[in-house]
Amino acid sequence: MIYDAAVIGAGPAGATFARIAAKNGMKLLLIDGSGEYGKPCGGLLAPDAQKMLACFDISLPHDILTSPQIFSVKTIDLGTRSVRYYRRMYLSMDRKRFDGFLVSIIPESVDILKGRCSAVSRTRRGFVVTVRQNGKDMHFRCRNIIGADGASSFVRHRFFPDRKIMKYTAIQQWFRSDSRTDPFYSCIFDPETSESCSWTINKDEYFIYGGCFTPEHCRIMFEKQKKRFSEFSGIEMNDPVRTEACLACRPEKYSDFVTGRRGVYLIGEAAGFISPSSFEGISGAMMSAKALAEAFENNRGSAVAAAYSKAVFPLKTKYMVKTAKRLFMYVPVLRHTVMASGITAIKTEKK
Ligand SMILES: Cc1cc2nc3c(=O)[nH]c(=O)nc-3n(C[C@H](O)[C@H](O)[C@H](O)COP(=O)(O)OP(=O)(O)OC[C@H]3O[C@@H](n4cnc5c(N)ncnc54)[C@H](O)[C@@H]3O)c2cc1C
Repeated sequence: MIYDAAVIGAGPAGATFARIAAKNGMKLLLIDGSGEYGKPCGGLLAPDAQKMLACFDISLPHDILTSPQIFSVKTIDLGTRSVRYYRRMYLSMDRKRFDGFLVSIIPESVDILKGRCSAVSRTRRGFVVTVRQNGKDMHFRCRNIIGADGASSFVRHRFFPDRKIMKYTAIQQWFRSDSRTDPFYSCIFDPETSESCSWTINKDEYFIYGGCFTPEHCRIMFEKQKKRFSEFSGIEMNDPVRTEACLACRPEKYSDFVTGRRGVYLIGEAAGFISPSSFEGISGAMMSAKALAEAFENNRGSAVAAAYSKAVFPLKTKYMVKTAKRLFMYVPVLRHTVMASGITAIKTEKK
């Protein structure tokens, strides 16, 4: 049999595409090779992602949410030792369960396969996809390839090798914590160890410390920064129960976004859809997936690529506007000016 499309990756992008496109009548193979714990993630559902769920008429089961829920971010600059609070309207959730939920609402007509896609070759009538499962290779035929395989996208590398995008190495550690450690959620800047940002978040019985670093010496810088944060906050971080790492894309220009053509399409972070300022990527994953599913519904052949590219232009522009916001977050002197001014900051009660 020939599938209309093989979707590689069942994160928010792949699962959303599969759900909508299958309802529109496409016959799909969804391939995912995620490990036991899923993707390292802060597990924060931003207002744009909540809006997408609202547009899909999807409500979340309560067991996806974690405790505590947060209403603000404590922003800490370890360079200047300044602190400000800003209001945030995120939902804090268990990312693994969230991804599992999105997969659980995919129509049964979609064939879901656990395994890693290791090769894709173009044939005269479409593509042959190779999937490695339990040490064995399986081959499937399809008319289109949907690369929903995240920041280290195999599909992007295979079909668009010259379209490289800047990447950070994200490292996260989980610590068991019996007490609710303040801050519940913080964003940390430390120019001495990273040009990007880090975060702490309390999730159920865990305290998480994570951050994005330039790949060179990332682990050394992570440890150094953790120590500096401990000294600043008094929070001890010993004996992590889990250490996880992955890549995170940072789009800098329009050409960093690759939507695809000639039967190969990219959605979500594989396409570059992630906020360059906050690394929020779930909303862009769902938006791009919806746009591509609709492009398939209303178009044929090369018109699909054109329609999809047009539909996600506002999303690209939103991210490019955020590169300007990024300057005020990541250039130390500008950040210091913004934090010192108190603009948009909130006052909190003394503890
Ligand atoms: C540390 C960290 C924290 C983050 N925190 C947040 C946050 O709090 N909120 C937020 O909105 N965003 C956050 N992001 C960004 C967000 O996680 C991503 O942008 C989002 O998951 C992208 O969704 P996606 O579906 O495109 O890709 P992914 O969620 O990365 O899913 C890709 C899937 O493809 C699978 N895959 C990859 N290669 C293959 C292959 N060859 N064969 C088969 N399967 C494959 C993977 O196993 C994975 O399941 C964070 C990112 C990082 C790195």
